[in-house]
Amino acid sequence: MCVRCEISRRSLLVGGGALAAASITGVANARIRPADMVPLIGPGYRPTEQDEQGLWHQMERVEEEIAGSNLLIKDPALNAYLQGLIGKVGGPAARDMRIYVARIPQFNAMMFPSGFTIIFSGLLLRMRNEAQLAGVIAHESGHFLRRHMIRQWRDMRRKSDIFSIGAMVAGVGGAGAGVYTGDFVRLAELGGMLSLFQYSRTLEAEADAMGARLIAEAGYSPVEMANTWQQLIAEMDASAKYRRKRRERDFGLFDTHPAPESRMADLRATAAELTAPGRAYDTGRARYLEAIGPIRQMMLDDQVKLNDPGASQYVVETLALDGWNGLLRFYEGEIWRLRNRDSEGDMRRAEQSYALAVAYPDAPPEAWRWHGLSLFKQGRQPEGRVALTRYLAMKPEAADAPLIRQMIG
Ligand SMILES: [Zn+2]
Repeated sequence: MCVRCEISRRSLLVGGGALAAASITGVANARIRPADMVPLIGPGYRPTEQDEQGLWHQMERVEEEIAGSNLLIKDPALNAYLQGLIGKVGGPAARDMRIYVARIPQFNAMMFPSGFTIIFSGLLLRMRNEAQLAGVIAHESGHFLRRHMIRQWRDMRRKSDIFSIGAMVAGVGGAGAGVYTGDFVRLAELGGMLSLFQYSRTLEAEADAMGARLIAEAGYSPVEMANTWQQLIAEMDASAKYRRKRRERDFGLFDTHPAPESRMADLRATAAELTAPGRAYDTGRARYLEAIGPIRQMMLDDQVKLNDPGASQYVVETLALDGWNGLLRFYEGEIWRLRNRDSEGDMRRAEQSYALAVAYPDAPPEAWRWHGLSLFKQGRQPEGRVALTRYLAMKPEAADAPLIRQMIG
């Protein structure tokens, strides 16, 4: 998707005037038609030219380090599911591409030049169904199938003499060398480094068109890609509003690129072109929820701990459009408890959410805990005892279990 990496690119470019001039080439283009997007590589592709071979060679090292990173979520069922999805929407290179999930609570995905992709857990959290995720994966496949990395790299070299190929590869290899330490920042740096010479606005538009075509061919509604963008734009706005900042300030690169709204509009037009009238499309929501089930709580937990209440509230409420459950209600409460602003009644808001959460069979133990404590606070000891007993039954080994036992007598 390359959303946040555009931001990293901007921050890297501050102070690097000459490089900035060379790489900001974003001008409004006519929409790229999906019919014109044909894959430029076939199954089993290997580079034959020296510069690309060198890049692949470096990428093999980077991939080895990433594959060993302790930031990766290694749930075998989830990984098999994602690999299966790439198999469905990866076009002719479906069998050649690899996919990794990193536990990083941000919306991002990136394709590396040798055909492996990293998806951040924050992206998985935000997908409402399999069709949306298929759109992201197909977009990343589009970058690979259209050979974007090497095209952008060669383009950069023509315009700028700052980096020789050697320096560039050394830079990428150097950035990659820190990945295995399992440090969030280093992995983010790697994304920023790669984005320095990849994915101009034109190439993003190509990947969008190619991706929409791939998911339509696989039987998903192509409009889901536009929906994902719409969600992301609304989340940025919600986040900015709570922090009382303007979105532009945080997403400044969009000033020089067409606005995200125009990218979304292009995706809608593309989807209209690809949608077969009267066809029933499968969103694959049940399959998706099953696949991410084991890590959904962890992802929600990571999100609310970012203490970005506008974004977190938007994420929770968007997921709840498909139906509230105990987990979502609990984390709705956590958003306010963690912000804990007395003047805005945050604790009271949180308590209301916990009370709602425990009405669902899937409420996590912590929902019972906080609900019980809130009942005690209100002087409703008998009900509070019931709730806390439930908590202890669900989580007998909890660190605070002795304390809670003492409390309920
Ligand atoms: Zn992209």
